[in-house]
Amino acid sequence: MRRWVFLPLFLAGCAALYILQRSNASAPITPRPLLYIVADTQREAERIPLALTRVSDQEEIKVGQKIAMDYGLPSQHSDNPDVARISAYLNSVGDKIAEHVQRKAIPYHFYVQDDRNLVNAFALPGGHIVVGRGLLELIESEDELAAVLGHEITHVDNRHAIGSLQYELASRKIGLGEAYQIGRPAVEVFEAGYTKDQELEADRVGLGLAVAAGYSPAGAVALLRRFQQLEPADTQRAASPIEEFAEVPFSALAEYFRSHPPASERRAALEGEISARGWDSSRPLRPLGIRMIFLSDAGERLNRAGNFQTSIERFKEALTLDPTYVRAWRGLAAVSWRSGDARETARAEEEAIRRGAVGLDWPFLARALAASDPKNGLSRLTALEEGAYGNTVYGVPAVNDSFRSAKVNQAGFEFLQGNKNALADFQAILRDAPQTPSIQAAALYVMAWWTYRAGKLDVAEKELQNAHQILPGYGGVDLQLAWVLTDLGRQADAETLVDSPKQIDRAERQALQAVLKWRTEDRQGAALQFEAAARTDPVWMVPGYVENNYSNAAASVIKQLQAGESARRLKEMQERRRRLVQR
Ligand SMILES: [Zn+2]
Repeated sequence: MRRWVFLPLFLAGCAALYILQRSNASAPITPRPLLYIVADTQREAERIPLALTRVSDQEEIKVGQKIAMDYGLPSQHSDNPDVARISAYLNSVGDKIAEHVQRKAIPYHFYVQDDRNLVNAFALPGGHIVVGRGLLELIESEDELAAVLGHEITHVDNRHAIGSLQYELASRKIGLGEAYQIGRPAVEVFEAGYTKDQELEADRVGLGLAVAAGYSPAGAVALLRRFQQLEPADTQRAASPIEEFAEVPFSALAEYFRSHPPASERRAALEGEISARGWDSSRPLRPLGIRMIFLSDAGERLNRAGNFQTSIERFKEALTLDPTYVRAWRGLAAVSWRSGDARETARAEEEAIRRGAVGLDWPFLARALAASDPKNGLSRLTALEEGAYGNTVYGVPAVNDSFRSAKVNQAGFEFLQGNKNALADFQAILRDAPQTPSIQAAALYVMAWWTYRAGKLDVAEKELQNAHQILPGYGGVDLQLAWVLTDLGRQADAETLVDSPKQIDRAERQALQAVLKWRTEDRQGAALQFEAAARTDPVWMVPGYVENNYSNAAASVIKQLQAGESARRLKEMQERRRRLVQR
């Protein structure tokens, strides 16, 4: 009966948590105390004895399927290759553990919820186990994952999940057959966790299943030790350790700790169990076979944030685990380019192509080779293009748009090296290409960059004007033309182009405006614009990136703006320190 009183509060708690998670992933203030009350009262409520009829395995499977369908469990077959890989991995590890359950009639299915705000795992009756991507990010070995899956399997095998559902249904006076009627809150019952005794039992028995499947019990201990480090002693000390662990949003972590007993207590209980059972903890932990995916996620986030060095470390760690993981090679190429390292960019992009990367970005590779290896870059480019399109690697027809893009960039490379035939070669490519506006404009746009880099500003201008005429508003053409015009000393003409297409890179537009102001003697306006550009994208503070992408004339202006911005930041820091000392 008491349960009736708690139900609205419990649901309100779930709603608050849900809103918190969706609206602000890094909220510094959390409703943790309230959620604790909600969870505790719920746990207490579940201790109230209630005569429950024993549900048969067949009935449990049926009701579990209904709830799973109602919840819309993520498909185990995803179009996203990473999600498909995670799902396959979860099932391969989970199946090994599920072999050792008591209730053999229950079939187990493992799902990844592709949401990094879900730092949790839960089990539905009937053997549906869901693991959030946020929790997977924190797991470093297969043995740790085995402990997590063993824990969730035990919630099913030992009837915690079906029991919890029965309480929920009894409190609403509806029968098992109508379970699907309660909708999404039904899943929140399982997400919210169980009584403390049930949680500790799931830890203990679940680890037994993992050990029986050949995993080291040290995995569970290692994971709980990591949770202990993350578990906030109080809500004040919220954000500090997050970056260490792939920048998991704090509110998402808080949810995990709310729904489980303290990690220190769980760890102590497990260490007791391990020594009582005489389980061997000495075996080395097996690497997590999907960890390169999460390391690459972190690498991409860090690259965007301008933390290039740490980003490079993450991608390299991913490649140490799996050198065939193309996404990490491409990520490494991207961050290397942004950090100004053209040599590493070319090397990583070449590796990606050799390992079968699709959607090749020839201008990117060609620019990296031109900047890092003027002597052999062209032959490396040609070799890759022939490898990729000479029917040797993919078996695709030799003539297609990407092939043409490769040729355009080869001609561009030759142009940069002063080859007299390069321009004629390029014109021949244009003539042979389909006369489709988008293909012609794209080719002109790519070619114009090379002529701009070679300092042939009049040629570049003509090419870009042509591209603009063929396809007005073609992505990037106006901005590129503005860079050419400012080098030609036509600041007013450039100015009108900068503002036109709003969809182009905001930081680049701000940087170009800074250059224009600098060249019209508005030094203060230039500094302000450049400060904005560097704030929008930290890449604008990297001299090597600017050198590799822009003309020498533009790069020398930007370097002066960078020096000014560095000086301003230093002064700001010193002032802040002085104010701190005075206080
Ligand atoms: Zn649990």
